[in-house]
Amino acid sequence: MKSIPKAPLIAGGAVLAVVFMVKVFGSVLDLERPDAIVAAILFVLFLVIAACGWLFINLPPTCESRVCRPKDYSIIGRAQDLGIPGYEPVLQCRCGHRYLRRANRFFSINSRNYLQKYMVKSNWYSRWKPDHS
Ligand SMILES: [Zn+2]
Repeated sequence: MKSIPKAPLIAGGAVLAVVFMVKVFGSVLDLERPDAIVAAILFVLFLVIAACGWLFINLPPTCESRVCRPKDYSIIGRAQDLGIPGYEPVLQCRCGHRYLRRANRFFSINSRNYLQKYMVKSNWYSRWKPDHS
């Protein structure tokens, strides 16, 4: 089972990306010059902030029991393989509840494989709120 988020993987990827960019731009930029170093630092900062923002946007909300945090969710398979309409990955928290994210909505899946509204984001960057729509 894969756990979410894959923070070490993403951090490793970011480090690799930075090393790669430094190698590529190192031959173009003269890294002895202070302004080039400042530009490189700003670029790395931008990458780190972008990675954190991406992670924040993609984190699932707390589960229905108000127990599980984002790291407690696992992907248990694709919806269609589990008899649920859709192609999205199905998440399961440590309480055993199943969830599915579709666009800005986070659904819980009941024992009869019906999607039930749970949380919603009004914008891609906003926090999860109870879905009463
Ligand atoms: Zn839970």
